[in-house]
Amino acid sequence: MILDARMARLILDLRREGITDARLLGAIEKVPRDVFVPEAFRDQAYANMALPIGYGQTVSQPVVVALMTQALDVAARMKVLEIGTGSGYQAAVLAHLCRRLYTVERHGDLLTEAQARFKALGLHTITTRRGDGTKGWPGQAPFQRIMITAAADEVPAALVDQLAEDGRMVVPVGPQGSDQELVRITRRATWFDTESLGPVRFVPLVACAPQPVAGRRAATLNRP
Ligand code: SAH
Repeated sequence: MILDARMARLILDLRREGITDARLLGAIEKVPRDVFVPEAFRDQAYANMALPIGYGQTVSQPVVVALMTQALDVAARMKVLEIGTGSGYQAAVLAHLCRRLYTVERHGDLLTEAQARFKALGLHTITTRRGDGTKGWPGQAPFQRIMITAAADEVPAALVDQLAEDGRMVVPVGPQGSDQELVRITRRATWFDTESLGPVRFVPLVACAPQPVAGRRAATLNRP
């Protein structure tokens, strides 16, 4: 199958970029990325590139998805929260690594499309919600892991509160228009460990604002 060859090349690219975790590479191999991008970009779905998903949003390049997922260090028994469902690609990768994946998206049309993909791929351990992800998902907290896939000016306090003890969060922090910093926060009994994982570029985490006007302009979501 042609797809297998393209997937094999992507996995090779990721290995070259330093992604070595066999469990993570196995999860990536199970997710057909072409299903998550608009038809016009399907032939680029297995290149190591960020791609537009409509409404001014993007799906990260596979190496960024892999690096963030590796940094989150997800185990099979865990309950994980993602903020910014977008196409659903990152959620699908996470769902292959954890027990239950909760994901919140503010944009209704993107969420509807992502839900259809989860159903078609039989990803029944994903639970979705439309809403403001900066508030997290209080009814399901605490989470052992939280991944935010949009850039926050500041780490939302509600999300930090919803981390379990020894729980971990990976979040891009910083303003638009320049590089942001990928930050990993680990909650300890009475303090938080914070590590910087390097520069990234993400679309903004938009708190409580109205939905953006529909558009197809791509934003960059690549490592600079
Ligand atoms: N993880 C996605 C890519 C995310 S792009 C994927 O794999 O395709 C960032 C997403 O965050 C966009 O879909 C955007 O609509 C969403 N977003 C931005 N602010 C948000 C908020 N406050 N709550 C929930 N989703 C938000």
